[in-house]
Amino acid sequence: MVPLLAYVGLGANLGDPAEAVRTAVDALGRMPASRVEAVSGLYRSAPIDAEGPDFINAVAALHTTLTAYELLAQLQAIEAEFGRERPYTNAPRTLDLDLLLYGDREIVSDDLTVPHARMHERAFVLRPLAELTGETFPIPGRGPIASLLEAVSAQPITKLENE
Ligand code: ADP
Ligand code: MG
Repeated sequence: MVPLLAYVGLGANLGDPAEAVRTAVDALGRMPASRVEAVSGLYRSAPIDAEGPDFINAVAALHTTLTAYELLAQLQAIEAEFGRERPYTNAPRTLDLDLLLYGDREIVSDDLTVPHARMHERAFVLRPLAELTGETFPIPGRGPIASLLEAVSAQPITKLENE
């Protein structure tokens, strides 16, 4: 398969979430047939529709020859390694890994929706993603990140310095 660029969203809000995100980036680098090309800075935001401490989020760009489904399975295996438990919807989690973009593909199935179904309305995805892609980058089916960012400008989020 021709390698393509995929973007993965990382989020954590339990334990030491910044450390969890950094360790998860290392785990992404050990996935088969994939190479981490770039990682955004770390961002802190309060949970939306959820309980618990603040989230730390980041986005990583990966060159990969895995299929989207193989990539999702790898991400779920890493989540499992991090001991994620899901006692109820939106429960606090040690690590959440989302497949945000897979090249410019649009995928809709029971197990996988790409671009990720809610990424366009989340500042904690769009801000770190824009760091890597630039603001003119088009999200398939949604338009340029710049216009999506405007719509989420009220969501409080801060970039961690010195990370
Ligand atoms: P969220 O990440 O939206 O807070 P969860 O991580 O709990 O929610 O959702 C995981 C479920 O979402 C999995 O069952 C997975 O099959 C499904 N899913 C659909 N599309 C994606 C995607 N692009 N990335 C990750 N999981 C996805
Ligand atoms: Mg998820």
